[in-house]
Amino acid sequence: MRRCAALALALALLAAGCDRSSKRAEPIAPVFLIGIDGLEWSVLHPLIRAGRSPNLAALMQRGSFGKLGTLQPTHSPVIWTSVATGKSRKQHGIFGFLDGDRGVYTSSRRRGRALWNIADLHGLTTHVFGWWVTWPVEPIRGVMVSATSAGGRITKNWKGALLPGIPHQVHPPELTDRVLAIARDAGAPDHVERIAEREVFGPLPRDLDARERDLVDQTLWSIASDETYFEIAKALVPERPADLTMLYFGGPDVAGHRFWRHYRPWEFSWSGSSPAADAALACTVPRYYQWVDRMVGEMVALAGEDATILIVSDHGMHATATSAPNERYTTGDHQDAPPGVLIAAGPGVAKQGGWDAFLERGALPTRGNVYSIAPTVLGLLGIPAARDMEGSLAREILTPAALARIDALGAVDTHDAGFREPERVEAPADREDEFVERMAALGYILVPEAPEDDAVLVDPERFQLQTDPADAHPCY
Ligand SMILES: [Zn+2]
Repeated sequence: MRRCAALALALALLAAGCDRSSKRAEPIAPVFLIGIDGLEWSVLHPLIRAGRSPNLAALMQRGSFGKLGTLQPTHSPVIWTSVATGKSRKQHGIFGFLDGDRGVYTSSRRRGRALWNIADLHGLTTHVFGWWVTWPVEPIRGVMVSATSAGGRITKNWKGALLPGIPHQVHPPELTDRVLAIARDAGAPDHVERIAEREVFGPLPRDLDARERDLVDQTLWSIASDETYFEIAKALVPERPADLTMLYFGGPDVAGHRFWRHYRPWEFSWSGSSPAADAALACTVPRYYQWVDRMVGEMVALAGEDATILIVSDHGMHATATSAPNERYTTGDHQDAPPGVLIAAGPGVAKQGGWDAFLERGALPTRGNVYSIAPTVLGLLGIPAARDMEGSLAREILTPAALARIDALGAVDTHDAGFREPERVEAPADREDEFVERMAALGYILVPEAPEDDAVLVDPERFQLQTDPADAHPCY
C-alpha cells in the first residue's frame, strides 16, 4: 500500500511537472475515515461496557476518543461537507438538504476542494463510498460511489441509494456495471429483510400498528443504504489500495430518530404503541449500533494494521423535547447539536488509556469539532492544512512525533486555487414536492432559512453524558 502511494505520488509529480509535495519525505500510512451519522456516546457507552461493541472498543483501547463538537443547525449535508472540507457552510456553499428553489444540493454546488480533491491534487488516491453530497462523482484517483438520488428517496429517509440509469454515480465509469450489480443485490428487498431481522429488529410481532410498521419500513431503507455502500467498499477496497478511504453509514441516526422512545421509554410521558411492540423495538437502536460495529470491524481488518482509522459522527442523539406524539413520530432528536463521537487509532494517534479508563473517570474529553477532521486527515496524509479552513488540527489525539511531523508541513493559504466554479445541476430524481410541502408545514426545515447566517459551533460541555447502570436496561 505504501509502495503504491509512493509510486502514485512519483507518477503524479512527473505528470504535474512540479514538486508540490517535497515536504513529504516519509511514506504515509493510509487513512480510513468512517462517518457514522448520529452515533451517540450514551448508547455506545453501555454497549462497550457490555462487550457488545468490540470493534469500536478495540479502537478506543489502542487510540484516542472523545466528544466531537458540532454545528447548529445539525443538517447532515452541511456538516458532512464541513467534515470533508474543514469549512463552514458559508464557505463551502452547501446550506441544507434543499436550496431556496427546492433543488437538491449536488457536489457541483460545493465551493472549494474536499479531502478527495486535495488528496488528488497531491498525487494521492482516495476512495469515497456513499458520502453526502457526492453526486455527480468527481474524477479523482481512486473510486467514488455517490450518495445519489436523495431527491428520489426523500419520502423514505434521505439516505443514499444507487439507481440504474442515472449517470455519474460511479467513478471511474467503467466500474459502473459492477458497482450497480453489487448495489442491486445488497438492496434487494428479501436480502434487506433478512439483514433487518438478523441484525437490527429480530423477529417482529405481526400485529405492529401502522405507525410502528411505518417506522420499521423507513429503517429498511437505511439498512439497504448502509448494506449497499458497505458491500461496495468490501469488494473494491481489497483490490485497489488507496491513501484515503471515506465510507459513510447513516443508520444510527435513522434508528435513533425513530426508536428512541422504545429505547428509553422512561424519558417519555406518553406511549403510542402496544406493550408487545414496545418490547419488540426496545433494542432497535443499540442493535443497529452493534451491526455498524461489525461492519466497522470488517473495514478495520481490510484497512490493515498500518492504517490510521478515524470514526466520526456528526452529532449525538437524545429524546425529543415534545411531551406528546408528533406527527412524524420522531422521538430521537439532535437539533440542539449534542456532540458527536470521535474515535481514532493507528500510526500517529496517541494512546489515551482505553475505554475502561474512561469508565473509571466517568467523563469524556472533548476532541476538537467537526471542522478539525479535514486538517487532521490532511496532516496524517502529509499534506499541509490551509489557512482558509475553519478548523485546526485535533492536536490532542496525536503523538508528539506525528505532531512534529505535521507542524513541519506548515500551512498553505488555500487548497482551492484553480478549482472549478460552482454550478447548478439538476439532481437525477423527482423532488416529490408534495412531501416537501408536508414536511415544511410540520416545521421540518429542508430548505435553508437564512444562508447568510453561518452555522454555529456548540460547546460539547453543555451536554452531559447520560448513563444508566449497565443492568438497568433490557438490552444490555
Ligand atoms: Zn438526524
